[in-house]
Amino acid sequence: MRAAVLFGENQGLEVVDVELAGPGPGEVRVRLGATGLCASDWHTMTGAIPSPTPAVLGHEGAGVVEAVGEGVSRVAAGDHVVLSWVPNCGYCRYCESGRPNLCSKAMPALLAGTLVSGARRLSYNGEPLYHYSFLSTFAEETVVDEAACVKIRDDVPLPVAALVGCAATTGYGAAVLRGRVGPGDTVVVIGAGGVGLSAVMGAALAGARHVVAVDPRATKREWALDVGATHVVDPGTEDVDALIRSLTDGDGADVAIESAGRPELVTRAFELTCRGGTIVCVGIPEAGSPVSFPGPDLVRHEKVVTGSLYGSCQMHVDMPRILDLYAEGRLPLDKLVTKSYTLDDINVGFEDMLAGRLARGVVLLAG
Ligand SMILES: [Zn+2]
Ligand SMILES: [Zn+2]
Repeated sequence: MRAAVLFGENQGLEVVDVELAGPGPGEVRVRLGATGLCASDWHTMTGAIPSPTPAVLGHEGAGVVEAVGEGVSRVAAGDHVVLSWVPNCGYCRYCESGRPNLCSKAMPALLAGTLVSGARRLSYNGEPLYHYSFLSTFAEETVVDEAACVKIRDDVPLPVAALVGCAATTGYGAAVLRGRVGPGDTVVVIGAGGVGLSAVMGAALAGARHVVAVDPRATKREWALDVGATHVVDPGTEDVDALIRSLTDGDGADVAIESAGRPELVTRAFELTCRGGTIVCVGIPEAGSPVSFPGPDLVRHEKVVTGSLYGSCQMHVDMPRILDLYAEGRLPLDKLVTKSYTLDDINVGFEDMLAGRLARGVVLLAG
């Protein structure tokens, strides 16, 4: 089968024929229908996120179960699935306390380049390839851990389901699950890419009165208005602070979501929130970079600063739920798909992503 392989840093992806073995016990073979292009893949291609190579990248995918290995009971051949890059164990303290996105078995192994068991099922000319984020979705098929398969309804398009595997859930969950946006809230979302736009949608659905999206790119601001933002701001020419104060009687936003991963914008998000406000950080800053905010205000204003990984979701509960909301017309996830590509064009997709032309680019596969 064909797959896009990263042979080494800064070499782009090469689409070649690879071999796929399995599924072994506890594993599932999935025929992919679509996979999204995520900035994390790009950061791996440049070496900014270290992950072993040669590897089949891709971690935002959905498809149809082709075959299941011994002992697999959660899914069967023919089931539609979203793939979760946290194949959570189900019994560690995090899984047991309702925070499976932080699973202590899966998370430490995320960048090891294998399945949770340490197995590898991919090879090229007889030499083993590494997996990526347990999923390796830049391929026609993949073999994953059973726990990575989130069974979903089969009447939603796989390109939309694929986005629920990363960007859509990350953004929606930052607003709804971690930020706990409520009716009447004022929410500011910094950065309007796939994650930021999903946060805008989530905040709007949760009943926010004002949803302010901040992004220097005009196209992204337009997309934000199209998915539920009530106001948009160009940070280069407009004063976001003045706007938020004018909308909130001088108080500030109830929830600020930072999706760009820039330390100075985390500080900005902190400044834009009201007393008791919540700052949700979703973008991952460069390794080792500290973020700062005024210490006295943290205490005196009782602000809550929190990270959010994978939308702080419970994958097997929230992903099907997000797709129900989409299917019922309440969460326009299809609007995230700006452009689709073939597997052969995948590097063009990354060029478009870097040029800021995409909310999300999606590679269509056979599915
Ligand atoms: Zn991602
Ligand atoms: Zn666990």
